[in-house]
Amino acid sequence: MRKICFIILTVFAFCCNQKDHKKEQIIFNRIEFVYQLKQYLDEKTWKTFNEKEYDLPLIYFTYSGSYIANPTNAFLQTFESDLVFENSKIKIYKSKSRVDDLPFHMETSITLGDSSNDYNYHSPFMNCSSYEEVHKVIPVVLSTEQWATMVIHEYFHGFQYKHKPFLDFYEKEITYMHEDSLHTIYKSNAWFKASIDKENQLVLNAIHEKDSVNRQSMIRDFFTLRNDRRQKVANELKTDISKYEKCYETIEGTARYVEYALYHLFSTQPDDQLLKSDPSFKSFEKFRHYNIEKDHWLYLTEKTKYFYAIGFNMARLLDKLNIEYKSKLFQQEPTSLEDILKESQKAR
Ligand SMILES: [Zn+2]
Repeated sequence: MRKICFIILTVFAFCCNQKDHKKEQIIFNRIEFVYQLKQYLDEKTWKTFNEKEYDLPLIYFTYSGSYIANPTNAFLQTFESDLVFENSKIKIYKSKSRVDDLPFHMETSITLGDSSNDYNYHSPFMNCSSYEEVHKVIPVVLSTEQWATMVIHEYFHGFQYKHKPFLDFYEKEITYMHEDSLHTIYKSNAWFKASIDKENQLVLNAIHEKDSVNRQSMIRDFFTLRNDRRQKVANELKTDISKYEKCYETIEGTARYVEYALYHLFSTQPDDQLLKSDPSFKSFEKFRHYNIEKDHWLYLTEKTKYFYAIGFNMARLLDKLNIEYKSKLFQQEPTSLEDILKESQKAR
């Protein structure tokens, strides 16, 4: 009898091991998939996104543990970790204890300000909860592929921080006003909202306008409205929001831009082999006839935080005008999408 129990226990332990192994393999596949997406975006959408000098570690949180892709030495000195996966591009470690107790992650973290020994001082880390944990908090996230678009958005913020001139500017000039303050101004001042919504509509109209003279007049009207609104903010709210607005439009607009680029990838690619064994992967099929018009949250100021939408639309307008901006942003301070659009008007 004892022998049978032992055999049963051994079989049970073997099954558990197999199950854990399978679960871990899904985690490695998802992380590899995210790195593949970065490579794709580097080739098709934003050159340098996947360059080594702009790469940052990714921490993947499960309910009970954390896995870290390509950690820094400072991280490994802070958190005892074991190497659990390796290929030519990625080394994944598992930390002995979870990196923190927070139940939800989908952000790039970085410690700024006075010098500190924090592992992420001036060194961004992409933090994401697993698909399963994200789905619990945001039930509308229904698949691994949808989860991956969120991860890439946040990853792009890390890419922005990896540009030293931009990080210096952001730390010295921008951290005084959180982006939510701009959102609050939008929500609590009808005149501000009315102007922003109109500004955004002018950018959208300019994207779709075929006649170049009409388009130029829309862009001029856009700048007139902006200047008047910012003047009113300075007079009535006693604050100059220009540099914050330009910066948040640029960082959120471009992160949304790369996120949106994935919809095109998914609409043209066969289902990814890496995700075949992932029970949360649905299919790229539903992206086949993707139509941005239906995704109001991407481009309408009323359906999102306004600077995400206007920034995203300004990037698309610059594409339409064939104005190069990707190599200029984050390289030297303080360049913004708006500055580049304005500059292009002077040159006309
Ligand atoms: Zn963002």
